[in-house]
Amino acid sequence: AASAAPQAERLHSHCCYCSMQCGIDLIRADNDLGWEVKPSQHFPVATGRLCQKGLNVLGHAVHSERLLAPMRRVAPGGADSAWAAASWDDALSDIASRIQAIQAQYGNDAVSVFGGGSLTNEVCYLLGKFARVALRTKFIDYNGRYCMSSAAAAQNRAFGADRGLNIALEDIPKAKYIILAGTNIAECQPTMIPYLLEAKKQNAIIVTIDPRRTMTSKIADIHINLQPGFDSVFASGLMHVILEEGLYDAKFVEQHTHGLADVREAVRPFSPENVSHYTGIPKEVIRTVARGFAQAETGMIFTARGIEQQVNGVEHTLSYINLCLVTGKIGKPGSGFGPITGQANGQGGREHGQKADQLPGYRLIEDPSARSHVASVWGIAPEELPGKGVSAYELYGKIHDGEIKAMIVLGSNPLVSSPNSAWVAEALQKLELLVIIDMFATETAEYAHWLLPSSSFLEAEGTLTNLEGRVFHRPKAFQTPGDALEDYLILGKLAEKLGRGSYFAFDSPEAIFDELRLASAGGIADYSGMSYARLKEMKGLFWPCPSPDHPGTPRMFENGVFSHPDGRAKLHAITPMKPAETTDPEYPFILTTGRLGNHYLSGAQTRRTAALLKKAPVPVAEIHPHAAEQILLRPGDRLRLTTRRGSLIFDVKVTPDIHPTSVFVPFHWGGEHSINLLTNDALHPISRMPEFKVCAVRLERVGQP
Ligand code: SF4
Repeated sequence: AASAAPQAERLHSHCCYCSMQCGIDLIRADNDLGWEVKPSQHFPVATGRLCQKGLNVLGHAVHSERLLAPMRRVAPGGADSAWAAASWDDALSDIASRIQAIQAQYGNDAVSVFGGGSLTNEVCYLLGKFARVALRTKFIDYNGRYCMSSAAAAQNRAFGADRGLNIALEDIPKAKYIILAGTNIAECQPTMIPYLLEAKKQNAIIVTIDPRRTMTSKIADIHINLQPGFDSVFASGLMHVILEEGLYDAKFVEQHTHGLADVREAVRPFSPENVSHYTGIPKEVIRTVARGFAQAETGMIFTARGIEQQVNGVEHTLSYINLCLVTGKIGKPGSGFGPITGQANGQGGREHGQKADQLPGYRLIEDPSARSHVASVWGIAPEELPGKGVSAYELYGKIHDGEIKAMIVLGSNPLVSSPNSAWVAEALQKLELLVIIDMFATETAEYAHWLLPSSSFLEAEGTLTNLEGRVFHRPKAFQTPGDALEDYLILGKLAEKLGRGSYFAFDSPEAIFDELRLASAGGIADYSGMSYARLKEMKGLFWPCPSPDHPGTPRMFENGVFSHPDGRAKLHAITPMKPAETTDPEYPFILTTGRLGNHYLSGAQTRRTAALLKKAPVPVAEIHPHAAEQILLRPGDRLRLTTRRGSLIFDVKVTPDIHPTSVFVPFHWGGEHSINLLTNDALHPISRMPEFKVCAVRLERVGQP
């Protein structure tokens, strides 16, 4: 059982999985785990509710496969890796001397860092500082690049700020028309569903747009069964109707936005008739949704990875932002826009300097005033700060090219979560030094030279920022098992071995947070008015919160005041483009990937949770009956998927709930079950988001032997 203070009978924490960050109570119990998990009645985000993942959240934290000591690889990498335990001192001394030797030979940028979106704000912040101050490298990025980067780029362009939801969840029931584009909330953020049901009770209309009739679609009034890749075509059809019929909010557009004339021109060809021709969605339905949204008194649009994980993901997201802006449905009660963050700290993860192009406070690393500000907080000269690096997937290109020789991975499993992952495996094998800081020996760890045991969510104090932009405090409940250490201590000790310890002499996560506050002051994501004392007392504060007496900002852009210097939002004229790969006679179907309710990210934690694994033990490919008929699939057959990157065999489910052109496979598994061996690594030109959601695929039946 996990070890807590002996007298503790009841502890408080938060579920470590999705971006809702529901509160949990741990109650001492006479069972195998020693504790029972109950939903908290006190955290306002999802009072009294937990989904299956939350109820089983202890499963991985007390798992027998937890790493309990630093481990050195003593046999060639891959699935047969063998390991020997070492002391922290030996491990960190060896790692530091290898880093120093690599940097002496190839330069500081030969060492890279790969972070994660489930880490606390303090660790995200510290990791960005560690890369730039301890390692003095420009090469740091994180797995959120595969998650929120298109939404972030779109929101920054349109609004001048990127906060997941522009609103607090409690605003949702006030919305009269809600469009959910490419977001499967019922499986990815299940405890958010009651907010939508409450809106429905108040007569809201809910529209889902998805190539699958998901569990979320089942609560919708209208489901748009859209082929993957056509998102901005459909949104342009809605905009065409709104502008043609004069249903937009002329006063709001005039006073608070730029760019309507260009948008009008761009959507001119996208009449309902033409959009219907391209997508198969009836023109009456396009008119109904456009009129319904525009004429509703209030309305919201939520997007997620469905429309964002594409080479046109920024444009798709901007098309939906445009709809909120022209109808004035933003910055007022019951109205707003929000890409729904997936990872536990997907929001905070992108605010504090883990991104290749950013410094804490959501500052751009190439902005001289941002560099001066952060350098002064860190006690270095601005010219000592490295410049802009490259995105997550591009780091592996730098390894292939020989520019990067070492990588430190913290809280991420990129071998499973990256597209075209065989190419990533080849890169990892070329590294002279790969250090994995994690709770488990993940698939990525098979190529590591060192594994360093870190803390679970229960064993590390810190703050996180949920999908609303609510920053809250998570206490430390348990002690780390064995020799495992909290992430901030590992980074601090390694910095010391590298001779940079004075910059990392933090004696607590709170001390890191206090420095983070200074670094964020005056930035877009301003945390400077927050403190541990305030966060503990107030169940969280929404950023921006620029002074100790500021109440935080649950609703952004109130009264149409946006974060661009002129206070206006920018409408973007979007010309819908094709996906990077289109179908052809050799690859006639579309492969799209996504998430299941019982798993989280690469599955490193949820595949180690018996109750969750039992419900979804292996990935199952979903195809439409028409597709099954075309390939002559018979009962008991399995399905071979072949893309330009390779071929894999999956169990198959035939369902009318998927678009006839498409096959869906979840991505939470590694090895022979890893669908990312087949996905396309084309990147969005700005956000560098890979195209996980669309690639051309051939389907073949694999009969029983
Ligand atoms: Fe809540 Fe998300 Fe955890 Fe489910 S997975 S309990 S919705 S935080």
